[in-house]
Amino acid sequence: MLEPLIRANINRLQGFYNHVPPPARDLIASARGWFLARIRYAPDAELILNDLRAHENWTDREISACQVCCLRETLERARRDVPFYADYPDIQIERVEDLQHLPVLERETVRENQERLLSRGIASHRRIRAGRTGTTGANLTVAYTEALARENWAFLLRQWAWAGVAPREPRVTLFGAQIVPAKRNKPPFWVYNRPDRQALLSIFHLSEKTAPAYLEFLRRHEGQVLEGFPSVLAILADFVLLRGEAIPMRVVFTTGEPLYPAARAKIEAAFQARVFDSYGMTEYCGLIQECEEGQMHLAPEYGYLEILDEQGQPAGPGEEGYFVWTSFLNEAMPLIRYRIGDRGLWQDSGPCACGRAFPLVVPTITRESDVLRSADGRLFSPRALNQLLKEASSMRFCQFVHDRPERVVVRVVAGNSRAAEEMMQVRARLQELLGPGMQVTAELAVAPLARPGGKLPLIVNQVPR
Ligand SMILES: [Zn+2]
Repeated sequence: MLEPLIRANINRLQGFYNHVPPPARDLIASARGWFLARIRYAPDAELILNDLRAHENWTDREISACQVCCLRETLERARRDVPFYADYPDIQIERVEDLQHLPVLERETVRENQERLLSRGIASHRRIRAGRTGTTGANLTVAYTEALARENWAFLLRQWAWAGVAPREPRVTLFGAQIVPAKRNKPPFWVYNRPDRQALLSIFHLSEKTAPAYLEFLRRHEGQVLEGFPSVLAILADFVLLRGEAIPMRVVFTTGEPLYPAARAKIEAAFQARVFDSYGMTEYCGLIQECEEGQMHLAPEYGYLEILDEQGQPAGPGEEGYFVWTSFLNEAMPLIRYRIGDRGLWQDSGPCACGRAFPLVVPTITRESDVLRSADGRLFSPRALNQLLKEASSMRFCQFVHDRPERVVVRVVAGNSRAAEEMMQVRARLQELLGPGMQVTAELAVAPLARPGGKLPLIVNQVPR
């Protein structure tokens, strides 16, 4: 039951962590890794994974039957245990389509009802709370349990199996954790989580100057699994390709952002390995994973997916629409017909050559963004800067506008009266991250900056290169 406590105090722990020397950071990262490994590899974890692997033989009918059954259970539990759903109509689910009688939950509604969406069936000391930033900054605190963290991990391991990788193979990770203090300008830019055989690399210290250290580190870990945000791995791949010497890794797993074809090609060339992409979210509503045939499969036991058009009607095959998710696994905070803001389409290409009948979905997610280059040459991906917004809850939109070579403007559309204060906190954090060579200012705006087609990039780079 320690994970809820650790998560609740993560900022205080981070402050302490930032002030200890590198070897102590390894120890702390390993201790944290040990707790997570205890959750992920609890005695029943192997059974869960075996079950999931058996589902790969399901027929279309078995998949539908599972989804109908999970929808019934989810609805029943939600009406019984979750205040927000208490007044929902008691509809009978005979077919998955029956779900359409219930309202679609907008992100804003979920944000406003975060507490009423918590299940009374899960004791508060068992709830893990974690922040989730939207594509443009509006924040949501989600709740889940250790049991869900374990199930979720089993789903990830199922995809590892598709890539021919066994659990606990050594891996190099580039996700959003602040594992090295922002001010540090010499190696190590990494820590080790030894119980889980994982090396974590900082995504906040990548620059032309630090690239040799990163590449040398990767070379020492050649042949291992590499995982990270696509935009971060693409920056790293650029450095590798510039050097003209590939660093072969075993396989690459990407998630957390759209993986564009150009980035995939770069990553595969630099690391001489197949990329397996996946789409998930902190709300634990659903999961889409790439198989060995390069197709994106919905995980049907994880959540139910609808793709709806502008009028709220189901989009046909090949027609892009909004993702609307109903979570099967998250009992602590069940979300029913949750319109998450991402988009995609059903792929109508017949069964996948991998043999699995899991539906094929292409997340198109029209989030696109520039990269921010600080005065000292460090490169920040949208995902790296998104980490600054994790605590923010009062801003409707927040964008980083790089308008002059040495200036970035934090541009905020307020959600409520606390927005100005939070904006200044984000400004200060960005200033600390970018260092004295950059000037960070902040301003309130009435509307976000949109690209043609309505895209709202997190980073708007207006500096000609
Ligand atoms: Zn497949």
